[in-house]
Amino acid sequence: MEIKYKRNASLKEFTTVRIGGTSDYLFEPDSLESLNEGIKIFKEKNIPFFIIGGGSNVLISDNGYKGAVIKLSGDYFNKLVVKDGYLTCGAAVKLSRVVDFALENSIGGFEFLYGIPGTLGGAVAGNAGTAENGICEIVHSVNCVDFYGNTEKIIEKDIKYQYRECASFFNRIILDVNFSIINADKERNIKNIEAIRQKRESNPKGFSLGSIFKNPPGLKVWEIIDKMGLRGLRIGDCEVSNIHPNWIINKGNATGNDFFQCISLIREKAKKEFGVNLELEIKILGNFKGK
Ligand SMILES: Cc1cc2nc3c(=O)[nH]c(=O)nc-3n(C[C@H](O)[C@H](O)[C@H](O)COP(=O)(O)OP(=O)(O)OC[C@H]3O[C@@H](n4cnc5c(N)ncnc54)[C@H](O)[C@@H]3O)c2cc1C
Repeated sequence: MEIKYKRNASLKEFTTVRIGGTSDYLFEPDSLESLNEGIKIFKEKNIPFFIIGGGSNVLISDNGYKGAVIKLSGDYFNKLVVKDGYLTCGAAVKLSRVVDFALENSIGGFEFLYGIPGTLGGAVAGNAGTAENGICEIVHSVNCVDFYGNTEKIIEKDIKYQYRECASFFNRIILDVNFSIINADKERNIKNIEAIRQKRESNPKGFSLGSIFKNPPGLKVWEIIDKMGLRGLRIGDCEVSNIHPNWIINKGNATGNDFFQCISLIREKAKKEFGVNLELEIKILGNFKGK
C-alpha cells in the first residue's frame, strides 16, 4: 500500500499558539490500514514520528521537527457512534464536538470538558480536564495501536493515569474511545455547562497553549509566578498573561524561542526563590536552546 505525505510542511497552523517550524514529513492517514503502513515505513527508514491532535498542548521548535508528524484524519478517525449503551468516538473528533453530542443526546458526565480545545485523542493521552476531574475517569475503554502495528483494547481498570498524564498511551496511538452512556437530564447538563462557561469566560484570550506548568502538590503555579513578579513579563512577542500567569500568550509573531525563554526564566526563578521544580504540562517537540 502506498502512503501519501507532504514534505517540509509548516506546523504552526496545526497549533493553537501558532508557533513552530516545519516537519520533514506530514502524514494524514484516514484509515487504520494507512496509519499502520505509515508507521511501518517510518520505522523501516528510522524516521521518528510524533502524533498531533489539535496542537493545543504542544510547543514546536522554530527549527521544526526532523521526523514525521502524524495527524489522524477522515471519517474513520472522526466517527461518533451510539451502540449498545456505549458512545464510541474517533480519536480525531474535536473534544467540543463530543461535549456537544453528549448534550444534544442527554448523555451526562462530559460537562466538565466544556471549553477544552483539541481532539479526543489528545485529551485522553494527557488526561485533560479540570483541577478536580480528568477525562480518563469517565472512559470505558480505548482502542489503540502500538508502534509495531498491534491493535489493543485497553479497558478502564487497566488505564494508568494521573493528573494531566496517562502513561498507558506513551507509546501508543489512540484510535477511538468508548464511553458507557449515562442518561442525564438535558436541562441539568445545560446548567452544568453554563456554570463552566462562565468560569472559563475569564480565561486569557489570544493564541496560547492553556496552562504551561502542572501545579505542584499543594501549590498554585499562578501564585508562584505572581510572587516572583513575572506577571506580564514580555520576551519578544510572548507575554506571561496578566490575567492568568500560568498562561503564555503569543501576541502576534512570537517564536518558539521567545516562548521557551519565558518558560526557562520562570523555572529558574521558581527553583531559586521557592526551591520548586516546575514540571511542564505542555509537550515539547523539536530542539530548544537549554532544553
Ligand atoms: C485556551 C486553552 C484552554 C485549555 N484548557 C485546558 C483545560 O481546562 N484542561 C486541560 O486539561 N487542558 C487544557 N488545555 C490544554 C489542551 O487543550 C489539552 O491538553 C488537550 O486535551 C490537548 O489535545 P490536543 O488534541 O490539542 O493534543 P495535542 O496538543 O495535539 O497533543 C498533546 C499530546 O497528546 C498526544 N496525542 C494527541 N493525539 C493522540 C492520539 N490519537 N494518540 C496518542 N497520543 C495523542 C500528542 O502526541 C501529545 O503528546 C487548554 C489549551 C488551550 C489552548
